[in-house]
Amino acid sequence: MTTATKAKTIEIDNFIGGKAVKSKDGKTFQTISPGTGEVLGTVSYGTADDINLAVDAAKEAFENGPWPKMSMQDRANILLKVAALVEKNADELARAETLDTGKPITESRTGDIARVASNFQFYPNFAQSLADESWTPNPQERHTAIREPLGVCGLITPWNLPLYLATWKIAPCLIMGNACVLKPAEWTPYTAFLFAKLAKEAGVPDGVLNIVNGFGAGGAGEALTKHPDVKSISFTGETGTGRAIMASAAGTLKKLSFELGGKGANIIFEDANLDEALPTSVRAAYRNQGQVCLAGSRLFVQESIYPKVVKAMVERVKNLKVGDPLDPKTEMGALISKEHMEKVQTYIELGRKDGKCLTGGDPIKELGGGFFLSPSVFEGLAYDSKFCQEEIFGPVLPIIPFKDEEEVIKMANSTPYGLSASLWSQDVNRCNRVARKLKSGMVWVNCWFARDLRTPFGGQKSSGLGREGGRYSLEFFSDWKAVSYKYSD
Ligand code: NAP
Repeated sequence: MTTATKAKTIEIDNFIGGKAVKSKDGKTFQTISPGTGEVLGTVSYGTADDINLAVDAAKEAFENGPWPKMSMQDRANILLKVAALVEKNADELARAETLDTGKPITESRTGDIARVASNFQFYPNFAQSLADESWTPNPQERHTAIREPLGVCGLITPWNLPLYLATWKIAPCLIMGNACVLKPAEWTPYTAFLFAKLAKEAGVPDGVLNIVNGFGAGGAGEALTKHPDVKSISFTGETGTGRAIMASAAGTLKKLSFELGGKGANIIFEDANLDEALPTSVRAAYRNQGQVCLAGSRLFVQESIYPKVVKAMVERVKNLKVGDPLDPKTEMGALISKEHMEKVQTYIELGRKDGKCLTGGDPIKELGGGFFLSPSVFEGLAYDSKFCQEEIFGPVLPIIPFKDEEEVIKMANSTPYGLSASLWSQDVNRCNRVARKLKSGMVWVNCWFARDLRTPFGGQKSSGLGREGGRYSLEFFSDWKAVSYKYSD
């Protein structure tokens, strides 16, 4: 990312108090389109000063505006209008997401943006089912527990699923009556800006949703985590960043929710239905160019079927259509940035040195100046090697043979992460046994990425803190108050 300006490209501003605004000092940075390597837009470069303005706007909206005082039904009606506007503008949003991230347009349209709309359909409806609590120990006494919004909430999001993850936080945050300040990832600011304008059009009052673009460490992100008027930080990103945020938020004792990195195990037992396991394992490893926290990024295969599975996986991976992210037939697009692609390439070199690359792993120069890598498959890498332990976040997949359940559980649980895992077997007792022994926040049995928005989403070990989804997010974005009544008769 550079800091020049002046390109005849789109302008992406901060969004504060219901208006698109430039950063206070007028500085900008550029966002690059990964599919071409060219400048996509000029972005207002927010700093601590802009965070202060955004937090002030959010505080004013929370303390003196209508939003927290409205009935939940009235808030829900507005948020459902947001969902409708997202659906109406889905093509434009999907195109913007693809231009900004390099992900295939079909994935943006049917995955990311479809989910943005569902986030805003699900939470307004689901939140209505929340009940307060009440205890009556004797006829003259009643104790109640009521939920209150927190106030100004800070939201910090990564670049891999930009609007999908931002709205996974914004929707529950707003339905509970809070105001928020979002700091999107510096590499992908585009769709959040478009979204803010739709939220305003739907009737979200000024100051309830604010966005400050900029950088994390030492910049807008860090300023948000330290601001005394921000009551909570909901963060999705790398584990190391989670640690830094925990430290910087400690001074003001914020409520924290962290969705962090992963190194998912995908386990195929010899009795698995390979017609389902193989195509899903390809999707699990290479969707979004492998830049998915939930990716099945280590494939464990039982010894008796190992040669057959390796051969079939290599054939399938060779057939993946890598190409122009805007082409609806493209299955794999570009990696997010040159820097990230270079990082992935260092792991590919390591994999070639310590193991064997069976296909792919090279830059695709014919596709122009974008950040394209051919999808790769490796074998011969030890389960406890750097390649198999660290989050690479790219289109690379090590395949590792295993003897029995005991061995694969040990290998699967060996990383510091514990976000998600998949297992494939037609033995229902084995599925239950193994699922319970995997140290992972989510386990998919004979599937991958199957989601019901009511279930708890999040990681064990170094993959997170707290849960998102359903009532878990609504709990996070609210606080309990106990109110006790004593009657004289
Ligand atoms: P990242 O580097 O941790 O950045 C995430 C966000 O945090 C960005 O907006 C970033 O700003 C900001 N940030 C960085 N340092 C900060 C600091 N000291 N204080 C406050 N904010 C700070 O993560 P990423 O590279 O964008 O995303 C990839 C990571 O996210 C992977 O590890 C992936 O597994 C994880 N992820 C997890 C989930 C999940 O649900 N568990 C989902 C998606 C992704 P800049 O953009 O300026 O760096």
